[in-house]
Amino acid sequence: MLFHSTGGQEEACTLSHAIMSGLASDGGLYVPDQIPVIDWASCDVTGSYADFAVQVLAPFFKDDKLSVALKAICTEAFTFPTEMVALDEGLHVMELFHGPTVSFKDYGCRFLAGCLNQLASNNKLTVMVATSGDTGSAVAAAFHDKPNVNVIVLYPKGRVTPRQAHQISCWGDNVLSLCVDGSFDDCQRLVKAALSDNKWQESYALTTSNSINIARLLPQIVFYAYTSCQYMQAYNKMPGYIVPSGNLGNITAAFWAKAMGFPMREIAMATNANTVMSDFISQGTFTPRASVATLATAMDVGAPSNVERLMCHFSDWEMIKDHMSVYSVSDAQIQKAIVDCHQAKGYVMCPHTATAMHAYQQVGSSPWIVAATAHPSKFEQVIHPLLNQEIAIAPQLQQLLKRSASVIEVAADLDTIRKTCDTYFSHVL
Ligand SMILES: *Cc1c(COP(=O)(O)O)cnc(C)c1O
Repeated sequence: MLFHSTGGQEEACTLSHAIMSGLASDGGLYVPDQIPVIDWASCDVTGSYADFAVQVLAPFFKDDKLSVALKAICTEAFTFPTEMVALDEGLHVMELFHGPTVSFKDYGCRFLAGCLNQLASNNKLTVMVATSGDTGSAVAAAFHDKPNVNVIVLYPKGRVTPRQAHQISCWGDNVLSLCVDGSFDDCQRLVKAALSDNKWQESYALTTSNSINIARLLPQIVFYAYTSCQYMQAYNKMPGYIVPSGNLGNITAAFWAKAMGFPMREIAMATNANTVMSDFISQGTFTPRASVATLATAMDVGAPSNVERLMCHFSDWEMIKDHMSVYSVSDAQIQKAIVDCHQAKGYVMCPHTATAMHAYQQVGSSPWIVAATAHPSKFEQVIHPLLNQEIAIAPQLQQLLKRSASVIEVAADLDTIRKTCDTYFSHVL
């Protein structure tokens, strides 16, 4: 299978090339040349999750040098389950947060880490990434113990929660976390500057692991495929899915799973108060803008990059409008959904998941599966005051908090960062 850029200015390329590049040279995002169609009824859901993932992803890896490693990559990435919880007649929650850093991003980051570790096998790679909180810990956890890849995480001093800072800086070994005296934008600027600096490239073979990498999207097809097959077998009905969305990677994977032929009835998008997508559906023009801060922080996106992939999948606005409903949810509605669901069902959910649960109250037809993207205990500062009770901390988070963390502070200056990296990696590895 070949991949091409949504920019349309680049030759088709292999999957390995698309993964190593991240972003295409014409500035576009990589998408598969076609979506392979699978006979879902012949997929085996009785074996391991990793084996199921191999069946779903094999067509995308066909003829690529990574295909021989696909089984190993899936075995290392799909180490934790996707759990389905029934809340009501016609309402299930698909829990995607049972991984090491308790958000669905663990699937994509672990899969990408496995791919890059394979591709780097003769020539050590260094992944450099800026984080405003959550992604940094998922990336650090995914690449820790991957022998062919070093990781440098930059996070802004004082702008992430103490718990998030701990989760980013508790790894050591091949993961160097730097607490930068600056903002998230400074961190991002420093990563970009290093990536385009020859002196860095000479000694580090730098790449980044941002969310637009195709290797973070492909594994997300798997949980839609898996749960829709299981749902059909159990209830003989096709479920619809409601996906809490920000940068639109997760919902793009959902549409690809549906296009592959998995039994998904329809797909709805829930966003927070960032209304760029609901405005697009109602008005027909896509107007990227600055994001507004909400309780569902990981979805605070005003210019979602994966809209390019959705446009490419659907060809035009009319078609997107026919295939996708969008629900924009305010902070007050998020809070109400958390409280109501706890009262009615005894189920506690995170603010991101709550946007989809609010949307569930608006959608017609049934049955529905709500994607639960993070464990609620990651957002105790939001949930605790609402429910007026302590919520149990996820065991994985507890494990992470037990590890010792060492914080290295640096100025927002590329030369200082370079010296710190040189010293660290010459001592540690
Ligand atoms: C990243 C994230 C989202 C948004 O996912 P996209 O793929 O960017 O749309 C939703 N919920 C949580 C918890 C996240 O971390």
